[in-house]
Amino acid sequence: MSSVVRDQYKRPLHDLRVSVTDRCNFRCTYCMPAEKFGHDYVFMPKDQILDFEEILRVLSLVVPLGVRKLRLTGGEPLLRKGLHELIRGARQIPGIEDIAMTTNGTLLKRTAGQLRREGLSRLTVSLDSVDPEVFSVMNGGRLSLEDVLAGIAAAEEAGFTGIKINCVVQKGVNDHAILDLARHFRGTGHVVRFIEYMDVGNRNGWKLDEVLTAREILDRIDQSMPLEPVESNYVGEVARRYRYRDGSGEIGVITSVSQPFCGDCSRARLTTDGRLVTCLFAEGGADLRALLRDGTSDEVLSARIREIWEGRTDRYSEERATAGDQEPDSDSASATRRVEMYEVGG
Ligand code: SAM
Ligand code: SF4
Ligand code: SF4
Repeated sequence: MSSVVRDQYKRPLHDLRVSVTDRCNFRCTYCMPAEKFGHDYVFMPKDQILDFEEILRVLSLVVPLGVRKLRLTGGEPLLRKGLHELIRGARQIPGIEDIAMTTNGTLLKRTAGQLRREGLSRLTVSLDSVDPEVFSVMNGGRLSLEDVLAGIAAAEEAGFTGIKINCVVQKGVNDHAILDLARHFRGTGHVVRFIEYMDVGNRNGWKLDEVLTAREILDRIDQSMPLEPVESNYVGEVARRYRYRDGSGEIGVITSVSQPFCGDCSRARLTTDGRLVTCLFAEGGADLRALLRDGTSDEVLSARIREIWEGRTDRYSEERATAGDQEPDSDSASATRRVEMYEVGG
């Protein structure tokens, strides 16, 4: 027997985000800062990483529980060899209506066509600035802005439309460049989404005074390019939508810090090493890999996933907001070990 599962606050399980690798060819200061992820950093060995068969098995077990959308992420998902095969496999699972990917875009030049042909429905490309210097500072200077722009062009050529462009806004770092980014994509049909910088993980030394709120972001854009709100597409849509009054396109803001949206949060996350995580701010997650590898039946595995979701009480961002946006004790030994962004993929 299977039916849509709901957590302790009646939130359904609708999306699964899978981090397909913990590796990345960027060193974004807010995610994998170069000083902590140097050349000697030890990434996960292959035997700890879920293979495609294991990922697809989890996917086929969560569909009867309510999942309709899959998002591939990482680390940088396009560093995972043969990713198109995973997309092909996911396409064959009845009930999966939408397969999306979040990527830094640098490897799209050689992969966009194949991803499209295998059935990738939607693309989100992360791009924090179209100013080459700001871009380089934020992303650790490993690759250039041109690599990302060429990736977006390749995706357009492959037939992807309405690409989402994710920009994490960090006060004093790239906030002076948000207008340029908005202007660059205005009129292209792509949607820039400005994300409030979040206190995810333990390693980025997050400070509240580095957050530019969505309200401030919108005010700045509205002053030179007037905006009006647009209705959400569906319940649980993370970005609040706005369009340019002159009809030249749309932008979004993701208000994770200033106006949390835990009430509609219907996402589970599967880490590269097979932990099921029910909140971006969770502490570790539930090990599914052991069950996937010890001969546990589908029935028992499915019951375990159901039990995890039914027990879910996560609403971290709302709790932080009511507690007065206190800064987490990021790097101290006393800080609880929270999952990192590159482990759960945003
Ligand atoms: N490497 C891919 C990329 O950058 O698109 C996928 C993984 S990345 C962890 C997913 C998203 O999380 C990116 O859009 C990134 O900008 C966002 N992100 C990472 N750290 C963040 C933070 N501290 N606050 C807000 N967004 C963050
Ligand atoms: Fe890599 Fe994405 Fe994290 Fe940047 S945000 S370091 S591109 S995983
Ligand atoms: Fe969902 Fe956790 Fe983010 Fe709230 S804080 S929206 S529960 S992931």
